[in-house]
Amino acid sequence: MREIYLDNNATTKVDEVVFEEMRPYFCELYGNPSSMHYFGGQVQKKVDEARQRVAGLIGAQPEEIIFTACGTESDNAAIRSALEVFPNKRHVITTRVEHPAVLTLCRSLSKHGYRVTELNVDSAGRLDMDELRDAVDDNTAIVSIMYANNETGVIFPIEEVGRIVKEKGALLHTDAVQAVGKIPLNMAESTVDMLSLSGHKLHAPKGIGILYVRKGVPFRPFLVGGHQEKSRRAGTENTASIIALGKACELAGQHMGDENSRVKAMRDRLENELLRLIPAARINGGGADRLPNTVSIAFEFVEGELILLYLSELGICASSGSACTSGSLEPSHVLRAMGVPFTCAHGSIRFSLSRFTTDEEIDTVIRELPAIIRRGREMSPFGRELLAK
Ligand code: PLP
Repeated sequence: MREIYLDNNATTKVDEVVFEEMRPYFCELYGNPSSMHYFGGQVQKKVDEARQRVAGLIGAQPEEIIFTACGTESDNAAIRSALEVFPNKRHVITTRVEHPAVLTLCRSLSKHGYRVTELNVDSAGRLDMDELRDAVDDNTAIVSIMYANNETGVIFPIEEVGRIVKEKGALLHTDAVQAVGKIPLNMAESTVDMLSLSGHKLHAPKGIGILYVRKGVPFRPFLVGGHQEKSRRAGTENTASIIALGKACELAGQHMGDENSRVKAMRDRLENELLRLIPAARINGGGADRLPNTVSIAFEFVEGELILLYLSELGICASSGSACTSGSLEPSHVLRAMGVPFTCAHGSIRFSLSRFTTDEEIDTVIRELPAIIRRGREMSPFGRELLAK
C-alpha cells in the first residue's frame, strides 16, 4: 500500500535533492567546521552558504541566523533570552493557541514569579488586537505569538502585533515554524525581533532549526559552552542537517509562487468537495486568513480517532484535533480556545498538504471520506439521528 501523506504540518518528507546535498557530509566531508585545517574549512564554507540560503528565504542577513537543534529550542532560546536581557521586566504575553514549545514554557514561567498573559482568539481563531493593546505594558519583556497555527493554519497579523508591541518597548518573537516556506516572509521590512523555524516542516531533516535574531537586538545564549555560532549557541554544528536546511530553504523560495498556489488549489478543492458531500461539516478557522496547505475540518457526531483509523487502513495519513491526555481524548487546546463545540471538536481532522501532494491523492480522499464519516456516525446515537434526517 502506497501512503497518501496528508500530515505535512506534523513533519515532511526530506526532498531527495536536499538529501543528496547533505549526503557527503557524513562519511566523506565529516570535518569540524571550527577546525583550523582545510578539511574543516571546506565544511565551514558550506555552512556559510547554508546560512545565506536560509537568510535569503526570510529576507534576513546571514549573521542574523543562529542554527539550533529544532523549533522547540529556538522558541525556548528566544523567550529565555528576553527574560535575561530585561531582568526587571516580569511580564510575558503569548496566546492560548501556541504550540506546546511556547505554551509549556510560558506556563512554567508563571510558576516562577512571572506574569503571563495568554491572549484569547475568536471562533475563527483570530486575535483580538484590543486585548493585546490592553495587555502590553512597560513591564512586558517579550510577546511571543505564532505566525501561523499548526492545527488550523490561521495566520496572525504579526506586523500589526509588532507595531503595538514596539510602542511599549517589548521584544517580539514569532514561532514561524508552520509559516516559513508556505507564505513569503521578509524580515528586512518586519517588526519581528526573533523568529523560529524548523527544518522538518519544509523538507529538510528533523533535528535542525534556526533562531533569527535581528541585528542590534540584545541576545543571551540558551546553550553555553564553545564559541560556535559566534557564541550564541554552543555545541558542534549539525553540519549535514544545516547544509540540508540551506538547500531546503533555497528550494522553498523557488517553489513559493507556483507550487504554493497549486497546493492551495488542491486544498480548496478538498475543502469544498468535503463540505458539499458530507452534511454537518465545517471548517475550523474558515473565516480567517489561513496557510495555503492546511484544512482543519470538523464533522459533527463522529470520533476523530475513528476517522483516522479508517483513513489509515486505506493508507491515508492525517491528524485529529484531539490530544491524548491521561488516557482520555480531550479536544485540542486550539479548538477549545476557539470555542468549537465539543461535538465538532471531537470529530475534527487536519489535512496538511505539501508540494509532493498530487491531485489523484486528493481525489482518493474525496472519494473515500464520505463513506467513512457515515460509518463512524452509525456508531453513535446522535450520529444515527443525523443520518436519519
Ligand atoms: N512550533 C510549531 C508551530 C510547530 O508546529 C512545531 C512542530 O510541530 C514546533 C514549534 C516544534 O518544532 P520542532 O519539532 O522542530 O521542535
